[in-house]
Amino acid sequence: MTSAHKIRTRIAPSPTGFLHLGTARTALYSWAYARHHGGEFVLRIEDTDVARSTQDSVDQIMASMHWLGLDYDEGPVYQMQRLGRYHEVIAQMIAAGTAYRCYSSPDELDAMREAQRARGEKTHYDGRWRPEPGKTLPPVPEGVQPVVRLRNPKEGDVTWDDLVKGPITINNREIDDLIIQRPDGVPTYNFAVVVDDWDMGITHVFRGDEHVNNTPWQINIFRALGAPLPKFGHVPVILGDDGQKLSKRRGAVSVTAYEEGGYLPEAMLNYLARLGWSHGDEELFSREQLVAWFDGSHLAKSPAQWDAAKLAWVNAQYIKQASDERLAGLVATQLQGRGVNGIEAAALAPMCGLFKDRCSTTVELADWLSMYFVAVEPSAEDLAAHVTDAVRPALESLRERLSEAAWDKAGIGAAFKETLAAHQLKMPQLALPVRVLVCGRPQTPSIDAVLALFQRDEVLARLRTV
Ligand code: GLU
Repeated sequence: MTSAHKIRTRIAPSPTGFLHLGTARTALYSWAYARHHGGEFVLRIEDTDVARSTQDSVDQIMASMHWLGLDYDEGPVYQMQRLGRYHEVIAQMIAAGTAYRCYSSPDELDAMREAQRARGEKTHYDGRWRPEPGKTLPPVPEGVQPVVRLRNPKEGDVTWDDLVKGPITINNREIDDLIIQRPDGVPTYNFAVVVDDWDMGITHVFRGDEHVNNTPWQINIFRALGAPLPKFGHVPVILGDDGQKLSKRRGAVSVTAYEEGGYLPEAMLNYLARLGWSHGDEELFSREQLVAWFDGSHLAKSPAQWDAAKLAWVNAQYIKQASDERLAGLVATQLQGRGVNGIEAAALAPMCGLFKDRCSTTVELADWLSMYFVAVEPSAEDLAAHVTDAVRPALESLRERLSEAAWDKAGIGAAFKETLAAHQLKMPQLALPVRVLVCGRPQTPSIDAVLALFQRDEVLARLRTV
């Protein structure tokens, strides 16, 4: 493959908020497709909505891409830094007759649409400023900044073979003369996107299927420019648990929220990739496997449904595999966020090792491990059920034994065994009250292993029940 044919993909977020899960998934497909083919992946910032675009949002988007490991070969390219190039192309199109200035005022256009509605017609731009052979255009009004419109062909079809949806055909009669530049000289999305995809040599465009209706205009602009067409793949939306489009109102939709919620980036990547794409029955795969497998086929045609329980399951699998040291660093950050400071990651590592099998997120892990650093508050119910008067003498004698035991799992285990024998008790009768008092809850992993990770004095203090 020559470099002229190098696969080039891009993600083109509008910087008006966090990186949305849907955009992250499209970025992931674009990235994986480029990596699979040894091509290049570009980050473009579509900031032409000046009022809503912020640098803070750009920073958040880049941080989330970095967190997910979606490295780009070029960018960020900012559209607002390319205005000169857009103006140049607009001028060429006007000269070539594929675009034209339209001086109709908003009021005039409203009146036009009103009249169309009154006649029972579908509203559309009636082409009053569209140049035609032999047509006399209205006189140019003074002091009016025109918009520029695409002179869309009136005849024929626009057809493309969508990488996800298959062949799509739209008749040009259904498409208006789109505004491609606003009166203030800023291009509209459909125009800037084409000039950029052309200039950047983009060969494959993956994006959300809310853009399907834009694609015929874009194809017509590519054609008007004599530019080669990329291939398009429109990925269906992600639906929430309730079958409605995933939106802020229905829970977390930003990548950042999941980072903060204790998900691992490789789990997120795995889950997002699988949501709308499959490789046989594989549910768990590495980033390398994804790149090896992702050739643009097997993208689902129907919308994927967000499944929080499945994501939690996927994350749990990655947490199990993660090293204790890595989890310790993540849990330390979680605990710091709760005001628990000065924790040595080295002390946390064995705790992570002991508890990671039962956690779906590092937040849950931090929930467990906070008992090692913060006083626990057992519920009245648990205290009444387990810390009974009958067991208090045994707890007291366990305390005494623990004050002298070797402070490791075996030594603690031996202290329990001796206490059980001396008081004719079974393990749960002693272990449950110890758990409630020391850990604040009646279920934990093996109690000797749990206690060994506490300071001895802390355990003795928590066992003091009178
Ligand atoms: N800025 C557009 C969006 O965020 C990009 C769409 C495209 O990829 O063409 O939806």
